[in-house]
Order: sequence, then C-alpha cells, then structure tokens
Amino acid sequence: MELKVGKKIYSAARMTQTTACIVCQGPLTLFGPYSTYTFMRCLVCGTIQLSPMPDEAEMGRAYQTEYVAYKQTKEFSDPEKWRNVSRTYRASIIQVLTDYRVNGMVVDFGAGWGHLVNAMIQRGFDARGVEISRDQVAYAQQRGLPIQQGDLNTLREFEGQVSALTMSAVFEHLVNHAAVLSAVHRLLKDDGLLVTLHPTAATFRLVGNLFRFGNKRKPLPDLAGALTAPWHTVLFSIEGTKQMIARHGFEIVEIRPAPQGRLGGILGLIQVSLELVNKLGWRAWNTRWPLVTTHIFVFRKVSSVAPG
Ligand SMILES: [Zn+2]
Repeated sequence: MELKVGKKIYSAARMTQTTACIVCQGPLTLFGPYSTYTFMRCLVCGTIQLSPMPDEAEMGRAYQTEYVAYKQTKEFSDPEKWRNVSRTYRASIIQVLTDYRVNGMVVDFGAGWGHLVNAMIQRGFDARGVEISRDQVAYAQQRGLPIQQGDLNTLREFEGQVSALTMSAVFEHLVNHAAVLSAVHRLLKDDGLLVTLHPTAATFRLVGNLFRFGNKRKPLPDLAGALTAPWHTVLFSIEGTKQMIARHGFEIVEIRPAPQGRLGGILGLIQVSLELVNKLGWRAWNTRWPLVTTHIFVFRKVSSVAPG
C-alpha cells in the first residue's frame, strides 16, 4: 500500500502503526516512547499524539495509580507556587479578553485552583469556572471563588449565554475533543469566543529530536512536562489546532505567541531568554517561527448548530 501526501509517497512499511491522525486522518510516524506510552507524529498536519489514544476510563485509572508517582506533581501541587509560575499565562489571557472587549459571562474550563477566575474577577469580568479535581475545587471554594466541580455539562443552565470560554493549559490534556468542543459550542452565545492557551508541536518536535540525536526509538525527555504521557495526550500543531476546532463550528480569529511561564532557577532563565528571542522570531516569521512553545488561539463561534 502506498499513500500520497503532498509530493511525498509513503509506503505501508514506513507506517509503524495503522492508526490515523486524530485531527486529519493523516498517516502517523513514530515520534518516540515515553514511559509505557508512544507518541506518534502526523506526517500531514504535524500534530504529536499518543497512539493508541487512551480513553476516559484508561485516563481515570492512570490518574489514580500513576499521577501520585509523577515527579512533577510535587512541583505543581502547591497552589501558591503554581500561582506564581503561571502569572504570565493569566495576564496574556486577560489581555485577549480586554482586547476583544468581552463583556458578559466568562467560563474558565479546567479552572484548577481558580487563579485565572480570581484574576478575571479582579479585572471586572463576570467569571466562573469548572474543574474536575475535587481537591482543587475545594481550595477555590474556600477562597470564595465561583468554581464548581465537574465538566462543562454541569453548566447546562448557561447554554447560549456565555460570552467567552477560556482554557489555559487544558486542551493538551483532553481525550474527548469532540465532546468538549460541542459542549463549548452549546454554551457560547452566537459570536462568543473560545480562547485556548496550549503548548504546540513544533518546538517539542525540534528539541525532542535534538535531545535524542534524532534516534526516535530512544525515550523522549519530558521537556518541562510537555511530553509527559499520558497527562499530555496531544501536542497539536498550529494547523492541527485550527482544523480540530474549526470542525466544531468555530472560525479562527487570531493566533498569538503565549508568554513563557516563570519557573524560576535555570529553567526560569531559559524561559525569559526564550521569550525575548521569540519576540524577534515572531515579528519576522509569525506562526512559522518554531521556538514559540505555546500559543493562544482565539476562535469565534460561527454556526448556531453544532456539527458532530
Ligand atoms: Zn494530522
């Protein structure tokens, strides 16, 4: 069997797995193993994805049995530390809401401890959040934040009333993209905005390969958490993000480079330096610049009936 992609022809022998890209159905090639999981990369849209993709039951099992042993849990399990590290992400998302003059209800999906909801409320937005983790919701509620436990289906009473829905470092964790995007579509008003900040594939492809001297069978480094399976299920390419979200009744309005987090220490220095380099790279090459690790995508709801 041969498959033609653009000008290239791939034979079946080169496809190490038979599954297709979750975004574009394109053929997948090995990117690398991580723990007991395998990341594959789409030869057409460039999206890096777990293959096979775990389902919700498998993810539930992994969160119960593996997450506690996951070494970065400790670093990110302190709400105050995370509040400090993620302050640049919050500011960049609030800047989008301000630039688009969002007024009316804003929902933060995957609200965690509620830092973004808190910051949005302080800036005058009518913000609320939903979060799966009971511990994080308890923390947020103790601080009086309007965050409820569950998924987007717990907000059914607000369908068609939400002006903007935000996801900060959430999209890369999903296994049920279609269900989430359909729920977002139902919640938003016509012309409502979906704002997602998530790590994208290009930098991690580059650095992941460099670290292994191009040997794709070597285990992947976790690259500050970006390639840790199964918690990150998909690192969408820019093109992959556009295709996946547009298919569910949205149009892309804008793509921005997200700032780096503020980890502190040596990684923090790398983050700040990279952010400076990226300012120049983005100015010259825009979305073709490969060292922006994370992007902010602004989508607008377009059709009043959610497809699929
Ligand atoms: Zn693809």
